Amino acid sequence: MTASLLDRLPEVRGDYGEAVPMARHTWFGVGGPADVIFSPADAADLGAFLAACPADIPVLPVGAGSNLLVRDGGIAGVVIRLGEHMKSISHDGDIVTASAGATDADVARYAARNGLAGLEFLIGIPGTVGGGLRMNAGAYGGEFKDITIRAHGFDRSGTPVTATPEQMGMAYRHTDAPADWVFTHAEFSATAGDTDTIKARMKEIVGSRGDAQPRGVRTGGSTFANPQDGKAWQEIDSAGCRGMVIGGAQVSEKHCNFLINTGGASAHDIELLGETVRQRVSSGGGPRLRWEIRRVGHLAEGQPDPQQPGPQQPGPQQPGPQQSSQTGGASHDG
Ligand SMILES: Cc1cc2nc3c(=O)[nH]c(=O)nc-3n(C[C@H](O)[C@H](O)[C@H](O)COP(=O)(O)OP(=O)(O)OC[C@H]3O[C@@H](n4cnc5c(N)ncnc54)[C@H](O)[C@@H]3O)c2cc1C
Repeated sequence: MTASLLDRLPEVRGDYGEAVPMARHTWFGVGGPADVIFSPADAADLGAFLAACPADIPVLPVGAGSNLLVRDGGIAGVVIRLGEHMKSISHDGDIVTASAGATDADVARYAARNGLAGLEFLIGIPGTVGGGLRMNAGAYGGEFKDITIRAHGFDRSGTPVTATPEQMGMAYRHTDAPADWVFTHAEFSATAGDTDTIKARMKEIVGSRGDAQPRGVRTGGSTFANPQDGKAWQEIDSAGCRGMVIGGAQVSEKHCNFLINTGGASAHDIELLGETVRQRVSSGGGPRLRWEIRRVGHLAEGQPDPQQPGPQQPGPQQPGPQQSSQTGGASHDG
């Protein structure tokens, strides 16, 4: 399959990789292989690739993999990774232009160095500009929709596209931008500010994040979006799921909307744990939680459907004893 797939792909200036384990490219550290990974040299290379890539070959853009759960069977088709080469950041007056593969933290640091305020919240989001646009990522009172002037990219046929946040219907952890758009860059609005004050605010955000979230663990951040009238972590806590374990996956003791790969988790363990949590919350009278983490790829052979938690699946182990220092992570809304 892979050899014939590469044969069907156009010549590019960037790089192709074959059968690349996605576990290397996701924060969870799990996920089967992508048939092919393509790292475009620049936006023109990406546009030419999309225009020439046969329409029946699926493509999936991926940033830092900080909001992705890639299933154990891997991803059919081509994963497009923009973080290798497309990372440039520049500014003209108080408008910052960043490529889709630039990390949010690098954009925040660049703005701070250049005395540009308003982008501080980006320091706390471990993704890229492309993933932030797709997710309308946000934290500490800021969201991509508040700072984005225009986003640019290509559709699946390689035709350039551009849109404002309003045109993309950006809302809480959501955008209506067509699913086939691959973002290449965006302009962000900032305001003139004092570098020391901006850096102090960023330091505050980083410190507060460390208090509320588990550190140095393999996670995808907030698993579920907050329901309309409440907080996902509170629903999970009330359903008694804090600390719950399935295989190598665990609901974080510290921030119970985070799922953790404690070492040997499979993507299946993590997805099944998430589905079990959702079921417990809703069967206890809570809302049907919506996955914020994007689940992609296919199950490995023989794995039962994690969306049907039931007797054929490994059951959860009892949560451990709760500690008094636990928080729900209420200081960020990611
Ligand atoms: C420890 C931790 C803390 C987090 N805290 C927050 C938080 O505070 N707030 C918050 O909102 N999120 C948070 N997240 C989630 C995550 O960082 C954000 O959703 C981030 O925006 C994802 O960016 P990414 O580059 O990693 O995207 P990926 O995870 O690689 O992809 C996410 C989605 O974006 C799409 N995508 C990626 N690049 C492009 C592109 N160029 N064009 C089109 N689509 C693209 C992918 O196809 C996928 O659907 C956290 C995650 C972790 C692990």
